[in-house]
Amino acid sequence: MTSPSPSIICVDCGGPAHLITPPREDNEWLVGDVVAYRCRDCLDRWDLVLTAEDLGIEEDQADQPDV
Ligand SMILES: [Zn+2]
Repeated sequence: MTSPSPSIICVDCGGPAHLITPPREDNEWLVGDVVAYRCRDCLDRWDLVLTAEDLGIEEDQADQPDV
């Protein structure tokens, strides 16, 4: 099971920003999914695109051709 981090550090104020995007019904997260975080302190919203690294997926499982 892979999932994005439940919280990140707000770039603006350094406060904790928690994941506000619910998972799919099947609880699956995919590379390229957009997830949103809301900062507790300044209430800024951060939208991130999930990468293989975010999901802890091995590089050889990611769909990225070598250049
Ligand atoms: Zn903040």
